[in-house]
Amino acid sequence: MASGILVVINQEGGRVRRVGFEMLSLAQKLAPGQVTALTFGDGAEQSKDSLGQYGADQVVFLSGSAYHHYSSDGFADAVVKVVEGVDPESLFFPATAWGKDLAPRVAGLLGAGLASDCTEVYRRDDGRLGAVRPIYAGKAFARVAIDSPRQVYSIRPNIQPVAETQRAAAVLAIDPGLDASQFQARVVAVKESQGEQLELTEADIIVSGGRGVKAPENFKVLEDLASALGAAMGSSRPVADEGWVPHSYHIGQTGKVVSPTVYFAVGISGAIQHLAGISGSKYIVAINSDPDAPIFKAANYGIVGDLFKVVPALAEEVRHIKQDA
Ligand SMILES: Cc1cc2nc3c(=O)[nH]c(=O)nc-3n(C[C@H](O)[C@H](O)[C@H](O)COP(=O)(O)OP(=O)(O)OC[C@H]3O[C@@H](n4cnc5c(N)ncnc54)[C@H](O)[C@@H]3O)c2cc1C
Repeated sequence: MASGILVVINQEGGRVRRVGFEMLSLAQKLAPGQVTALTFGDGAEQSKDSLGQYGADQVVFLSGSAYHHYSSDGFADAVVKVVEGVDPESLFFPATAWGKDLAPRVAGLLGAGLASDCTEVYRRDDGRLGAVRPIYAGKAFARVAIDSPRQVYSIRPNIQPVAETQRAAAVLAIDPGLDASQFQARVVAVKESQGEQLELTEADIIVSGGRGVKAPENFKVLEDLASALGAAMGSSRPVADEGWVPHSYHIGQTGKVVSPTVYFAVGISGAIQHLAGISGSKYIVAINSDPDAPIFKAANYGIVGDLFKVVPALAEEVRHIKQDA
């Protein structure tokens, strides 16, 4: 009978992104002693110790030329082969661009139900898993129960706590026997985006600017606050569309979904499409000159004022506090 959780993890050169550890910690809580991690690509083996440390009981590494470049159909076929060997009850994927591409393909091939972008996965009274996911652009949360025997979940980054377990993961050898020449599509090159100091989806603090910043050169004011706080920079869509900031800054329904501890919305009105990307933030701090701006309804803390006065004063204060600490 199928049991345990297969956690499908993206790594680069042995470095696992934090969401991988978040998924493992969650899986270990839900299926103690029955967690298998699956990683692909060059350097996968180097991640063995860290995967065990955060909750993997066993690991499957798929390395070699077939997995050198990401392929939607090739990797999906490979996951299905691993599922045949491991026979898990459920699969976890990260709700990142990578996981959002892979999870639905795997679910389709397995005939399994899929709950995407989950903020919570829990054991129901009947022993099966259930999940919570945002709907209506983050205005509401739905509890989801999947009826298919096998279930696929993608997990939103930065929500689940990580827990170290110090276990030594066993290596499980599975060879899906695939060849890259069989794959219909593959990624041939990856270009690092310029200007993004910290990965937004993993950032603990984000300083984000909107049209209220008025000109590209004015983003220096926000960068100064971000640097004082050790924060990542983000933006509303129009300023990214205008080319004031890199497209990688764009947050919202059509951009990145973020879940930092603190999100500073500076000169951002709070349109529903922007709120869709920030509803997972623990605290939202709004700085806006218009007291009726909708962002204040979503914010935990609000400052009504001119950002060009408020933001430098805030940066100064943060530096003072850090100096004194
Ligand atoms: C299909 C669709 C998808 C979309 N997807 C996204 C998305 O993913 N992300 C996104 O962000 N938007 C998205 N949008 C656009 C969205 O509807 C809003 O138009 C956009 O979010 C507004 O951006 P803004 O808040 O920067 O600008 P504005 O709405 O123009 O707000 C600027 C704010 O700055 C304030 N301000 C002005 N001067 C100052 C000052 N000196 N000090 C302090 N505050 C000041 C103003 O009071 C105002 O509230 C989408 C729209 C559509 C139709």
